[in-house]
Amino acid sequence: MLLRKSFQIEAAHRLPKVPPGHKCGRLHGHSFIIEVVISGPVDPEMGWVMDYADIKAAFRPLYLELDHNYLNDIPGLENPTSEQLAIWVWRQLHASLPGLVEVSVAETCNSRCVYSGP
Ligand SMILES: [Zn+2]
Repeated sequence: MLLRKSFQIEAAHRLPKVPPGHKCGRLHGHSFIIEVVISGPVDPEMGWVMDYADIKAAFRPLYLELDHNYLNDIPGLENPTSEQLAIWVWRQLHASLPGLVEVSVAETCNSRCVYSGP
């Protein structure tokens, strides 16, 4: 069984490695949608894999660090592409969320990257 829980953060960034004149080199923001996917068996007594509230609680410190902030200032996100943000979220969460199998980051409605771990 897979559980998918998504979170929205508002954050600013710029991409320092794009060529001069590239629009992503300018300071701008996104309403990022970050989805966390957990895989596991359904507990026969509880009838669920885990409490969605536990996923929310595990994500809370990341939310506080990311939301309404400038991503480039966060250690590990100096080049804050969606891909690097997905890897960063994975690294922050995998120890506290057993069964984590996927982290995806959408920076627009039609652009999304999916990371399935190292
Ligand atoms: Zn951007």
